[in-house]
This record gives sequence, C-alpha cells and structure tokens, in this order.
Amino acid sequence: MARITLSRSAFFHNLTLLSEKLGGKEKLAIVLKDNAYGHGLLPMAGLAHTFGIKRAVVRTFAEAEAIKSLFDDILILNPRPPCLSDPRYTLTINALSQLHAIPSRTRVDLKIDTGMHRNGIHLEDLEEAIAQIISQRLTLSGIFTHFRGADVLSSELFWQMRQWQEVKERALRLCRHHQLPRPLFHSANSAATLRLNGYDDDYARCGIAAYGYHEMPSVFGDYDLKPVMQLYAEKITTLRLKKGERIGYGGLYRAQENLTVSTYDIGYGDGFPRYDGEGKLYLNGMQILGKVSMDSLCVKGEREEIPLIGDAKEIARSFGTISYDILVKLNPGIDRTIIH
Ligand SMILES: *Cc1c(COP(=O)(O)O)cnc(C)c1O
Repeated sequence: MARITLSRSAFFHNLTLLSEKLGGKEKLAIVLKDNAYGHGLLPMAGLAHTFGIKRAVVRTFAEAEAIKSLFDDILILNPRPPCLSDPRYTLTINALSQLHAIPSRTRVDLKIDTGMHRNGIHLEDLEEAIAQIISQRLTLSGIFTHFRGADVLSSELFWQMRQWQEVKERALRLCRHHQLPRPLFHSANSAATLRLNGYDDDYARCGIAAYGYHEMPSVFGDYDLKPVMQLYAEKITTLRLKKGERIGYGGLYRAQENLTVSTYDIGYGDGFPRYDGEGKLYLNGMQILGKVSMDSLCVKGEREEIPLIGDAKEIARSFGTISYDILVKLNPGIDRTIIH
C-alpha cells in the first residue's frame, strides 16, 4: 500500500528553529488546519504536544474537538455555528456580523484586515466590535491579522506591518478605555517568522515551515528546514514492453526501446497530482510514464517501492503550484506512520 512516513526528528528540528527565531516555544502556535497540511491531524498534534507546544490553530470545530486534550489554547479560524464551547477554544471573528451568534463568555479573537482584503474586520469597525464584545459579555482574548506578502520579495510586508502597528495602538487605547485586559496580538505566519528579526507580537502562527517548507525566493537565504513527510508507493505489477508499445490512457507514452515498467498504487484518487503527459516528468529521479490514473501510475524499472515525495516543492514546480497544494491534498486514508 502507498504509505506516508512522518519524521519526528525533522518536525522537532523545524519547531526548534522556529521557536528559537521567535524567542521561545510559548511564542509558537502550530497551525494544524486541513489535516495538518495533509500530514495527518492526530499524529502531528501529538508530536507538537510532545515537543511542548501549547497553542494550536485549526479551521473547524471538528478539528478542534479531535485535538482538544493536547493543547491549552486552540484558535479556530472559521468557527461556523452552532458553536461548541470549551474553555480552550478561541473563536475567530472574521466579520462584525458574526458576533451576534456567539454565546456569552466565549473567548474570541478579532481578525483585522490590514490589507489582504480576504477576511477580517476593518480598522474603522474595531471600536464597534469591542463595544459589542462587552455588551454580549464575550471575552476578548486576542487581536490578529494575516500578511498577504510575507513570502514575496517586496516591501509589502513592511507596509502591512505599519497598518498592523496602528491596529495595535488603537486596540490598546480602546481596551484601556473600557478597562479590558490587554489582548494577545499575533500576526506572523511562517514566512514572516523566518524573515523578521525582533518580531514582538505575543505569538506567531506557523504552518508550512513546521512541515519543512517555505515558498520564499532564494535571495532570502536558506533556512535549513527539513521536510517531515515522505510518500511511498508500492508496486502492483511489473511488465516488459516491446519497443513501440504504449502505456496507459490514450497510449501517450511510447516505449523507445524494450523496457521494464512497473505500476505503483498511487494516483489522483489519493490526491497525487494528475500528470497528463508523455513521459517528460521526472520525480525524485524517476520518469513517470504516461498518464497518472485514479489509483496508479507507471514508472520505469521494477523496484518494490518508490519514494514519490521527498521534496514536495519539486513536484509543485512540475505542476505549476506550491508545496502547500501538493501536501494538503494527500488523501487522509493513506497510512501514516511516525518514524524516528
Ligand atoms: C494558514 C494560516 C497560517 C499559516 O500560514 P503558513 O504560511 O503555513 O505558516 C497563519 N495564519 C492564518 C490566518 C492562516 O490561515
């Protein structure tokens, strides 16, 4: 069977690097949304817990429920009602209109739009949001934003950080005025964490770097991250093709000589990208022959097992996408094992 291994030492290496950059483990929140970027929610949550991470970030209540015994604080990015209550949960408020549905005493974080214009409350509405939080007897536990360009080579990040600075100052004034405790501020994702020195928010929300990748241009340097996941596929059959015979749907790949080929048990049904080509794609030094099928693909040779993802960025480049996209789509049903 196709299988995924998760390297504990690689994950701990990345978490150590990020915590040192931030100035301590307590400043690192691990982003576990979307099945921990395809790595597996439960194994990665367990490892993060063992490492000593206390904060997790997920997308849904279902994800939060699955890992709640492992963390002190779980930030839910898209908490669709009905709201589940737990003292460890903090619900993100992405728009003013979401506040009215939140039960009293729930902890909320306000997400402020500082320029990404994806979701978040406008700075001009911060005062109203805080007034509503007080009148609904909610607990304002944090205020945060998300950067749109931390991984691109430009001054965008610094422009957005100035907007963020203004948010923080205004929020602190409002909290003092209403005698509310100081909320926690957080803004950085992986790219901002790696890129910035002297990040002074309360914590950062890191996903991709913890799993061993970044998507920054090489001028930013090499951050010595180690990929956590390896993906292997197992051989189903081997056959000998004669010169001129063709493989797979549409018969796109034609053998240039007599050839030994094997079929392996992974395909686009497992979330592996669908290659539609004529044998020009090389992954990990192996040539993919013909189209990728739903449950299988074909490679030259007769190895019992082949490593397909050593470096998700290599695959991403071949398909015109990013490492996140390759990793996150891998089917949760593929067996995942933690190794040293
Ligand atoms: C996904 C996400 C992150 C993590 O981003 P990475 O680039 O993977 O570190 C942080 N914050 C928010 C709001 C997110 O949605």
